[in-house]
Amino acid sequence: MDERSREIPALLGIPFDGQSSYLRGAAEAPAKIREALGCDASNRWTETGVDLGVQGMYADAGDLALAGTSDKDAFAAIESGASRLIGQGKRAVSLGGDHSITFPIIQAVAKKYSELTIFHFDAHPDLYDDFEGNRWSHACPFARIMESGLAKRLVQIGIRTINGHQREQAKRFGVEVIEMRHLPAYARLKAAGPVYISFDMDVLDPAYAPGISHREPGGMSVREAIAHLHAVEGEIVGADVVEYNPVRDLSGLTAMVAAKILKEILGKMIAN
Ligand code: MN
Ligand code: MN
Repeated sequence: MDERSREIPALLGIPFDGQSSYLRGAAEAPAKIREALGCDASNRWTETGVDLGVQGMYADAGDLALAGTSDKDAFAAIESGASRLIGQGKRAVSLGGDHSITFPIIQAVAKKYSELTIFHFDAHPDLYDDFEGNRWSHACPFARIMESGLAKRLVQIGIRTINGHQREQAKRFGVEVIEMRHLPAYARLKAAGPVYISFDMDVLDPAYAPGISHREPGGMSVREAIAHLHAVEGEIVGADVVEYNPVRDLSGLTAMVAAKILKEILGKMIAN
């Protein structure tokens, strides 16, 4: 075990949905995911054999206080919140929130880790230069990350909504787009150097995860998503789980799925 893998993961709730283009609700996600993570319907073990119930396996830094702040101030608070954890020698595992939060988080992560590889699970490439005039929309974070030079590689998995503009953007930034129709792609999830996992819940088929804002049919089963997460090879230095929208959930089903995904990401971070 090297020095960096002793840095424990720390949960950071980001109750922010100010950049959602279609429906609000994702700001309520962090509390619901935590509740599902602690739910007695399951135990604390990951499938890969890590007992998350052992004291000190991971920390919980609580939620950022973002109520009443402007979106610009919220982004600054998200970056400084993630920076603070990283400065404490922890690996930030953020619970969104809409996907716009990944840009300020990566700004913080990239200060410590250059040559970052991002494995981005999503139905959408989120590569718009702007979305309806807004450059900070949850449809744009990966354009901001790539044009700022914050990642060496961006690998997108599960994409099934790419349009002409975003195909051009992907080409411009050298993004490795792995479309849903071309899965499985386990061998593509290997990285040299630090890895960040950004998991948009809508990569899953809405049949498995209806509690999202943008229901895009034809997505991953929960099992396919877990199999791809388990296939990740590299040193995971941070992660986020975003776009869970409790307002659209059915009897807490998607919260349990988000918690399951979170567990398996934490397990990989602790074991690798
Ligand atoms: Mn997204
Ligand atoms: Mn999406």
